[in-house]
Formats: sequence, structure tokens, C-alpha cells
Amino acid sequence: MSCLLHHAALAFLPNFWMVKLMASMKSIKQHEKILLSGTGDCAVLYCPDCNVPELIIGGLTLKISTESLRTLSAVLNHAKVRLDQVQNISPDKGNVRPVNLKRVH
Ligand SMILES: [Zn+2]
Repeated sequence: MSCLLHHAALAFLPNFWMVKLMASMKSIKQHEKILLSGTGDCAVLYCPDCNVPELIIGGLTLKISTESLRTLSAVLNHAKVRLDQVQNISPDKGNVRPVNLKRVH
């Protein structure tokens, strides 16, 4: 009887740890990130389980809030528009700054 119990315990233990392992693997697997934009070195991933966007720039990975992502997007877009103005490139006018500006005098 005790021999049977011993065997039962031996059979039960690996299963118990396997269930624990599978449960932990499942919880990791549940955190599948979605690629929102970009590729490779410049991208934004999103974890729906954590509601956390990840900003990837080169080797840098930045976890930010969704509000921060929206703010950052607006700031970057505004900076791009301002840069175009500063560099005198206007897409709606279709005038592109010459690559080589030569001196007149
Ligand atoms: Zn997550």
C-alpha cells in the first residue's frame, strides 16, 4: 500500500511541476506584443495585456504609457512640420530645396 502511494507520489510530482511550468509558459505566451508601426531598429510594439507601448530606436527600448505615445507622436509630427518650414521645404507647394546651393557672387 505504501509502495503504491510512493509510486502515486512519484507520478504526481512531475505532473504537478509540468502543470506549473505550462501555466507559467502560458502566462508568458499571453503577453504577445503587436507591431503597431515600423520595422527592426525603429518600431513601436504594443502589449495588449499590459496596455504598454514599447518604443524601439536602435538598441534603445522605451516602455511608455499610451498617453505618452500620443503626446510623443504629436510632438514629433509638429517637429517635422516645423523642420520643413525651417528648411523651406513645403510639400503642398511642391518646392524642394536644391541639394546644392551655389553662391551667386
Ligand atoms: Zn505584457
